[in-house]
Amino acid sequence: MMSSMAHLQEEKLRLQKELLGLQEKLATQDNDELSRSLQLQGQVETLKVKLLEQAQEIGRLRSELGGTDTEKHRDLLVAENERLRQEMKACEGELRELRQLRQQQQVLCQDCAHLQENTGLQEQLSQLQREAEEMRAKMVELDLEVQQKTNRLAEVELRLKDSLAERAEEEERLSRRLRDSQETIASLKSQPQQIKYIIKTVEVESAKAKQALCESQSRNQYLQEQVGMQRQVLKEMEQQLQSSQKTVAQLRAQIMMYEAELERAHGQMLEEMQAMEEEKNRAIEEAFSRAQVEMKAVHENLAGVRTNLLTLQPALRTLTHDYNSLKRQVRNFPLLLQETLRSARAEIGQAIEDVHSTNQELLRKYRRELQLRKKCHNELVRLKGNIRVFGRVRPITKEDGEGPEAANVVTFDADDDAILHLLHKGKQVSFELDKVFPPQASQEEVFQEVQALVTSCIDGYNVCIFAYGQTGAGKTYTMEGTAANPGINQRALQLLFSEVRSKAADWDYAISVSAAEIYNEALRDLLGKEPQEKLEIKLCPDGSGQLYVPGLTEFRVQSVEDINKVFEFGHVNRVTECTNLNEHSSRSHALLIITVRGIDRSTGLRTTGKLNLVDLAGSERVGRSGAEGSRLREAQHINKSLSALGDVIYALRSRQGHVPFRNSKLTYLLQDSLSGDSKTLMMVQVSPAEKNTSETLCSLKFAERVRSVELGPVSRKAELASWPSQEQLEGDSPGTAAPSGRGHASPSPGQLSSRAASIRRKLQTSG
Ligand code: ADP
Ligand code: ADP
Ligand code: MG
Repeated sequence: MMSSMAHLQEEKLRLQKELLGLQEKLATQDNDELSRSLQLQGQVETLKVKLLEQAQEIGRLRSELGGTDTEKHRDLLVAENERLRQEMKACEGELRELRQLRQQQQVLCQDCAHLQENTGLQEQLSQLQREAEEMRAKMVELDLEVQQKTNRLAEVELRLKDSLAERAEEEERLSRRLRDSQETIASLKSQPQQIKYIIKTVEVESAKAKQALCESQSRNQYLQEQVGMQRQVLKEMEQQLQSSQKTVAQLRAQIMMYEAELERAHGQMLEEMQAMEEEKNRAIEEAFSRAQVEMKAVHENLAGVRTNLLTLQPALRTLTHDYNSLKRQVRNFPLLLQETLRSARAEIGQAIEDVHSTNQELLRKYRRELQLRKKCHNELVRLKGNIRVFGRVRPITKEDGEGPEAANVVTFDADDDAILHLLHKGKQVSFELDKVFPPQASQEEVFQEVQALVTSCIDGYNVCIFAYGQTGAGKTYTMEGTAANPGINQRALQLLFSEVRSKAADWDYAISVSAAEIYNEALRDLLGKEPQEKLEIKLCPDGSGQLYVPGLTEFRVQSVEDINKVFEFGHVNRVTECTNLNEHSSRSHALLIITVRGIDRSTGLRTTGKLNLVDLAGSERVGRSGAEGSRLREAQHINKSLSALGDVIYALRSRQGHVPFRNSKLTYLLQDSLSGDSKTLMMVQVSPAEKNTSETLCSLKFAERVRSVELGPVSRKAELASWPSQEQLEGDSPGTAAPSGRGHASPSPGQLSSRAASIRRKLQTSG
């Protein structure tokens, strides 16, 4: 019993030691894990440092290279760097996770069932220990009792031994006596009758013996009783012993049970410890493997970066090489440039010299040509006379209506601004004038062309500008224009003002204006007090051959405001004089006569120039449409005056001896402005509308005839053949309108060559 107790104690101690060892192991394992995570952290830290180094290296490379070729590499590296950084971030996140996991594990371990069980087991163990203590106390008690009992038992045994010895003696004695008795009985029996008798006798005889027997019997009985009693006591003792033995067995079983339980608990604890350890190992292994995998990934990344760096190095090397070579080139460039510049400068200088000499040569030639050209021009002007014919085509207006009647039939030549094409009856007829203004030509552009003519009037020339054409073709628009877009009249006066002003230092000029109207061959003063009055044209009494109109009002003008006043006044007079201004104006010639008189202050030289701006009556053929009365008379007068104008111009251009100025009031009035070295411009206005084609054709034919007048022997002929009348113009078909012909007197080729010869002769004689 004692040994089993000691054994139990030993076992408990061993268990406690084991527990302590396990706890220590656990602590060391925790420490291991911590150190490993620290190690991992350290690795991550070193990786970070490496990454930073790489970034710095890249930055350095970038700053060193800076070239456009490396930018691709740099971008790649930056991208790689970014990727690595992200991966590192991911690694850090995983590490954090791992740490959290570990903490969770610790927490789990702390409040895991095993520890609880462990504590439970410890409690059980302590309880068991307590119970064992109690048992031990009980056992001691029982031991004591057993000791007492055994002592008593020994006593009883001793006594029993004594009594047994006594009894054995007694029994010996008794058995001896019994044997004796039996021997006697046997001897007695061998003599049955006798014996019986003897017995009876003996019996009788042995009353004493009987008494002794009885006594011994009673004594025997007493002894037997005593033996029985002793036996009972023994039995009791044995029972007691048995029960105590049973108790001991029971206790032993209980102890055995406890031991088994303890063993089981210990086993369980060991198992749990083992399981825990395994789990821990597994977790650690897992964490370790994960960390290893991560480490591997990081290592791989590192390797990638390293390879990138390795690939970058040659690029860097080539770049450095390139850079160096470029540097060399740049260093050499100024020298090269200077050399090249020097040679280029020399070359350029040479070239400039060459060009200069060529230029000089050209200039010399040009001057010669210019002189020649001027000579030729002068000759041409002289040959042509001072008569120019311009054409102006107005745009299609709303008044033209719509449809085919308003279609445009006039086209222009892109290369020659003197040519105009008219579509007539499906055929294109071309006309050549001195210049043609298309519809888009502005008042300004038109005036630019007549500007020189206007200014020559300051130099003392007489100038006539006529606007010719059918009603509505734009005559008034060209001469007067609109308030917003004034025509030649106002622009001419403005130009004269500015020219006079610029010459004011040497010259005194006076500009005066008259306005007149010729209607039905009657001349009327538009600025006079009595516009009704018909004026006469008279020769100057001074015998200079100059014409003058007595009573024609002349206004001195000095500014644009003065002109406007004059024009307004003239308009008012015209309007009050007639009921239908448009009608009337198209049936009459309107004249604006500007006289510029100048005195050269230093020499006292006097000049007088006259600028006659004439808005002619409509050239349309009214007479043909069966007009009667006043309309017919008007038409006749217009036809007559326009024909006379044509005749005069024709005669002038062909330098005939006689110019029929007196055939009409208009030509008579303008005689001094048309003859001599006067300059004349005929502005032929045409409408581009289809419905006006025949009138346009007539106007253009008139224009071309005026222009195509030639000099030479023909002039004498021309004297005979007078200017075609309006009626003749109308009769001419466009097909026969040869540019150089005069309708009925087209010269033959032979005549042409002889005419050319005569021109040459004339040129030589005039030169
Ligand atoms: P005419 O005096 O020959 O009868 P107008 O000068 O009165 O003709 O012109 C007839 C119409 O055509 C007017 O309304 C005028 O404004 C317009 N017109 C004429 N020529 C032009 C032009 N070059 N640009 C714009 N409109 C024009
Ligand atoms: P000058 O008599 O002073 O030499 P020009 O004959 O050279 O004058 O003419 C002066 C300018 O006037 C020139 O540009 C010329 O083309 C122009 N001119 C001369 N006569 C006319 C005319 N009848 N119509 C239009 N322009 C003319
Ligand atoms: Mg008009």
